[in-house]
Amino acid sequence: MPAVFSYARLRRQNSTVDEEVEKLKQRLPLLDYLRRQNWTARPAGHGSEFVGLCPLHPETRPSFYVNASKNLFYCHGCGQGGDLFRFVQLSRYLSFHQSLTYLQEQSAPPADPAAVLEQAATFYQQQLDRYPEALHYLKHRGLHDPASIKELRIGYAPGASLRRHLTAQGHSFHLLRRLGLLNPQDCDAFYRRVVFPCCQAGRIVNLYGRSIDAACAHRFLPGSKGGLYAWEQVRQYPEVILVEGLFDYAVLWQAGFRHLTCSLGTSLNASQFRQLCDRRRSVYLTFDVDANGSGQQASERLAHRLQAHGIATRRVLLPKGHDPNSFFVEGGDARQFQSLLEAAQP
Ligand SMILES: [Zn+2]
Repeated sequence: MPAVFSYARLRRQNSTVDEEVEKLKQRLPLLDYLRRQNWTARPAGHGSEFVGLCPLHPETRPSFYVNASKNLFYCHGCGQGGDLFRFVQLSRYLSFHQSLTYLQEQSAPPADPAAVLEQAATFYQQQLDRYPEALHYLKHRGLHDPASIKELRIGYAPGASLRRHLTAQGHSFHLLRRLGLLNPQDCDAFYRRVVFPCCQAGRIVNLYGRSIDAACAHRFLPGSKGGLYAWEQVRQYPEVILVEGLFDYAVLWQAGFRHLTCSLGTSLNASQFRQLCDRRRSVYLTFDVDANGSGQQASERLAHRLQAHGIATRRVLLPKGHDPNSFFVEGGDARQFQSLLEAAQP
């Protein structure tokens, strides 16, 4: 019966909210919250009781009592009383749900987006082996070497599990929404996606999620994709292979190529372009050879721009209809790809 089912679900949601409320009250005791709001008080007889002027009504003689061990307040002047949530609702004119959001923000540890993305990436990495569909998808995209998968920190977002993991670490819904890890409905934004972390200077700046279901487009979290993928490891090479997609990158990495980077799309942003031009080097442009020629046009335009900045370019010609990923998926190997590099045209 659908009515019974939805009632059960509602009860589950409520119990999650109750748990969250209890955790918040422990993390941010009422007395601490009041002191942060500049409430001054003196001990009122018993060890855990304090009294001061009521923040909820005008008065000159203190009648606002806080019991720190019970985590409750009561005012003998205006008759109001309750817990931290009640106080926030009354003093800030918020609904219960608004006060929950407000207190999550107030009690959250100082937000370091890179650290939260790091926790998300680690969590996704831990999920990969638990979901056969994810490993099956990687195999289908030519990725089978566990060491390479680990080196690239590839993970899997099954959906509906990251939120619980990160809020249990004390991160607020507000922060997770701001980073794009949760959608506006507060559900995991990545659902059934293979995830690659994108790093800059050793810190994760974004996550790339590739849906394992053909219907959904690939996507990044909102915000900058950062510079070229894994650029710090590559910049010292005099010759660099540039690919457009992370699955292209991953199969070449697995095949042993290391002088390798990825522009995460065919159009380079300004900082990616500057990186490629930061010293004299040769760039092997290895964009898709798609049927409508758009990859090759992008490659040609980029070659001209780079040459104008003194960078030597070579265009790697893959067999028609291929990208580096499909080249390896369909049986190409490192030796064959090396021949393509050697045959690349200026
Ligand atoms: Zn009062």
